[in-house]
Amino acid sequence: MAQRKALTSDEWAAHLGNGERVALARAITAVENDRADAKAVLGAVYGRAGRAQVIGITGAPGVGKSTLLNVLIANYRAAGQKVGVVAVDPSSPISGGAILGDRIRMSEHGGDAGVFVRSLAARGHLGGLSRAAARVVDVMDAAGFDIVIVETVGTGQSEVEIMDIAQTVLVVSAPGLGDDIQAVKAGILEIADILVVNKADMPLADRTEAQLRDALALGQRGDWDVPVMKTASVAGEGIPELVAEIARHHGQLDLRDREQAARVRMRKLIASTAADLLRDRMSVSEDGRIDALCDAVSRGDLDFEEVAVQAAKLIAKGL
Ligand code: GDP
Repeated sequence: MAQRKALTSDEWAAHLGNGERVALARAITAVENDRADAKAVLGAVYGRAGRAQVIGITGAPGVGKSTLLNVLIANYRAAGQKVGVVAVDPSSPISGGAILGDRIRMSEHGGDAGVFVRSLAARGHLGGLSRAAARVVDVMDAAGFDIVIVETVGTGQSEVEIMDIAQTVLVVSAPGLGDDIQAVKAGILEIADILVVNKADMPLADRTEAQLRDALALGQRGDWDVPVMKTASVAGEGIPELVAEIARHHGQLDLRDREQAARVRMRKLIASTAADLLRDRMSVSEDGRIDALCDAVSRGDLDFEEVAVQAAKLIAKGL
C-alpha cells in the first residue's frame, strides 16, 4: 500500500486481512483521529471484530504494569497467539502514553510481527479517548490479533470508563508505594476481575495481598470470586498461574457477557458516528433557527447546554 489514495472498505478489509502492518498503522491513525477515511476503515471492521480476547490492565504508575505486560506478551507469543496492545494514558496530554508504548516497542517484542503496539494519549475529553480506544481495539481485532491488551496508567474514573471495553480486567498493585492499596483508594476495585499484587519478591507483599483480600470481602459481587494473584514480573514468577487465571475467567464468561462487551464497543462506535453526523450537518446547516439559537447564547438569553439540545433536535429531524 504505497500510495496514499483513499481505499474502500473492501480494500481495507483485504489489507488488514493480509496482516499488513503499514495498513494497520494507517487504519488505526484514521479511526483514532476521526480522519476522512475512518468511515471506510470502520466499514471493514464491522462484522470482522468480536473474535479477539480483550484484556485490560490498570494500576498506579510504578506498580510494574509494563514489565508485567511484556512478560504476558511473551507468554501469549510462545503459545502462537498474536498480541495487540493499546496503551492509554488519560492523564497526560502527549508524553505519558507515548512513553509507555515506546517502552514496549523498544522491548524484546519490538521486531516481532506478531505484536503490534499503539499508544493513545489524552486529547480533548475523556469520552473521545475512550471511544478512540474502543475503535483501535476493534481494528486490531479485525486485523486478526487473538489477544488485545488495553493498558491504562493510573487509577481513577477514566480507567473505569476505558476498561469497560475489556472482557477481563486486571487491577495491579504493588507493595511499598506508600499507599499500598491504591486501587481501593481510587475506588476501582469493583472493576477488577483479577487482582494482581506485583513485586511479590518485595517485603510487605503479603500485607498488600491481605489488605486486598479484606477489601474484596467487603464488596462481593456476581458468581466470580475475584482472585488475588501474586507475581514477580521481573523474575517471571507467578506468570503461568496468572495466565491460567485469565483463561479461566475468559472461559467462564458466558455468551451474554461476551455479547455485552461487544455491545459496549459497538455502542461507542455508533455514538461517535452519530456525533460526527450531527456535527457535520450542524456546521453546514442553513436553518435560520440554528443561527437564532447561536445568537440567543451569545446574548446570554439561553443556557449553552439547553441550546445544544435544541439544536441537536433540529438537526436530528432532518437526518
Ligand atoms: P509501570 O509504571 O506500572 O508500567 O511500572 P514498570 O513496569 O515501569 O515498573 C516500575 C519499576 O518496577 C521498574 O523499575 C521495574 O523494573 C520494577 N518492577 C516491575 N516488576 C517488578 C517486580 O516484580 N519486582 C520488583 N522488585 N521490581 C519490579
